[in-house]
Amino acid sequence: MTTHQTALVTGANKGIGFETARRLAQQGFTVWLGCRDHSRGEAAAKELADDGDVRFIRLDVTDTASIQAAQEHIAEQSGALDVLINNAGIALGDQEGPPSTVGSETIKKTLDVNFYGTLHVTQAFLPLVRKADAGRIVNLSSSMGSLTLLTAPEQPLAPFGMAYAYATSKTLVNTLTGWFATELKDTPVKVNSVCPGFNATDLNGNTGTQHPAEGAKVVVHAATLPADGPSGSFFDAAGPVRW
Ligand code: NDP
Repeated sequence: MTTHQTALVTGANKGIGFETARRLAQQGFTVWLGCRDHSRGEAAAKELADDGDVRFIRLDVTDTASIQAAQEHIAEQSGALDVLINNAGIALGDQEGPPSTVGSETIKKTLDVNFYGTLHVTQAFLPLVRKADAGRIVNLSSSMGSLTLLTAPEQPLAPFGMAYAYATSKTLVNTLTGWFATELKDTPVKVNSVCPGFNATDLNGNTGTQHPAEGAKVVVHAATLPADGPSGSFFDAAGPVRW
């Protein structure tokens, strides 16, 4: 079905963002494929040309001027934004560790992309999302950001190893979800966090157990929720995740 709706996916030149862009394009969305690098973004959009209307937009989520320029371009070209997917994210592998040793610089760099990037992109694009009939904002989170799972007696997060900066950034992403959903509760806009599962991408040295096309499914599900769907929720492919 052709929807003629418009979506922006940040960090969409590879991994889960790329597969999310593909899936939305296949569903008839005009997809703005956000990428911080011109040639990588152009190449990714070209690769998805057969899937639908996919347009590269340069967007570095840590650069205010880049966010502003992207917002102005999309406002001019599309007017409204039906779906905003805050997907861009980093995990600083070898610099990561438990809270007793991880450096402030590692925490700061991780928060700059995963938390402040999500915040600043959402602030900039919210006026366009509000202009859509039923705007949807999806924040890529992780079960590693769940404080409930962290403190659960069975310690289910332990198998993922110690990545304090990354986990903290995702806890903060979840706070954004809850606060924006609360602010927007009397509007048609829905804001949710999703955990895409453990996907083989560059973020984890391709150690994930599923293809990112699989992870993209729950992202697109959250992006296309019906009017009676949840807002201010955190879920994965199996259902609600404890926060
Ligand atoms: P990838 O490393 O494959 O992709 C990350 C994307 O983010 C890339 O396109 C990267 O661009 C982009 N990015 C990084 N920094 C910036 C920036 N400053 N501005 C714009 N884009 C940027 O990772 P995944 O696909 O695995 O991750 C996507 C999201 O899913 C992340 O938020 C991640 O935390 C989350 N997630 C992933 C899981 C997994 O198992 N893979 C599990 C749970 C959550 P570039 O190519 O230029 O570096």
